[in-house]
Amino acid sequence: MEQLRYSRVPELRGWRDVPIAGIVPWPGSTAENRMHAWRTFRPVIDPEKCVRCRLCWVYCPDGAIVELDKPYTTRSGRTYKVTYEVNYDYCKGCGICANECPVKAIRMVPEVR
Ligand code: SF4
Ligand code: SF4
Repeated sequence: MEQLRYSRVPELRGWRDVPIAGIVPWPGSTAENRMHAWRTFRPVIDPEKCVRCRLCWVYCPDGAIVELDKPYTTRSGRTYKVTYEVNYDYCKGCGICANECPVKAIRMVPEVR
């Protein structure tokens, strides 16, 4: 089956061409669905407060939290091996990560364009 491209609709398609709702018909098909245009608030992670528990990574419905092999030493001298950041191409600004963070290391700030 020819792959549909949702970000570009080159022509109208018949009902037989539309995949069943709620499924991912082929691997990687959601990579083109960038959600940043929907956002009214964006999450900002404070690397000083973050305790690297990974809960934001687990709960983000869009896989927009990324774990980087980037060591970070806090001002108080604690060193972590990883850093968590937000991939703003795919973050829709739902705020779940900020709600789930146990140490309130994520702030939702107004999106400015
Ligand atoms: S605001 Fe929502 S979509 Fe964005 S990183 Fe947090 S949980 Fe994921
Ligand atoms: S939930 Fe909070 S403390 Fe845990 S990794 Fe994410 S930002 Fe860091």
